[in-house]
Amino acid sequence: MTLLKAITFDLDDTLWDNHGVMRHTEEGHYAWLLDALSVWQRGRGDAELALDAETGMADYLARRQRLAKAHTERRGDFTWLRLRALEEQLEESGLNRSAALMWAAAAMNEFHRLRVRVTPHPEAVELLTELAARYRLAAITNGNIHLKRQPLAAHFPVAIAAGELLAPKPDPKPFLTALAELEVAPEQAMHVGDSWDEDVIPAQGLGMQAVWIAAEGDRPLPARVQRIAHIRELPALLDWLERR
Ligand SMILES: [Mg+2]
Repeated sequence: MTLLKAITFDLDDTLWDNHGVMRHTEEGHYAWLLDALSVWQRGRGDAELALDAETGMADYLARRQRLAKAHTERRGDFTWLRLRALEEQLEESGLNRSAALMWAAAAMNEFHRLRVRVTPHPEAVELLTELAARYRLAAITNGNIHLKRQPLAAHFPVAIAAGELLAPKPDPKPFLTALAELEVAPEQAMHVGDSWDEDVIPAQGLGMQAVWIAAEGDRPLPARVQRIAHIRELPALLDWLERR
């Protein structure tokens, strides 16, 4: 193998399990918004909005989907979609424009506070610390987690929010941006991620090595692609690749 100089990592479901965090964040920030808003309105003597957790959430989701269709270039920029959807919903429910903007922003602040409460796999810190001694590291995510506030942020001198580049994976742009910042050629880099379509295929297509994190999977692996069940298996795989 060409000498490997850099490793890029997907985050969600690669360095931590994301499922429960996302559900909790989704429900949590909206419930917070309704509670905080109703306290604020009662304090001002205003009539409360006719939004409840269930129908309000469904409407919020439908608005995000409509916005993503109407602004396809923003389809991966989930923070923007959420913010615009909340602003619209609050304004149409009766808040004036400046209050709608303020409360949508406050709800997104709560969203990001909950979203970074991910628990990395117990092996992650030691793994990244050891890898950093041998390779340059980067994170590339489609998720709208705050890249400077996530718990492994200190391990990634380069961190790419693909949605904010308006080019979510599998678009090659976030990979090429990371490689440029790491100052390596694709052949000198490896990408590690759980998604076959968004991580493995685009990285491999650019000429990078790719490691697919998948507990099960019996599909044939193209050139430069390896599968491991968990990131804890990565050091042994790297040793094996470097010895070849
Ligand atoms: Mg992932």
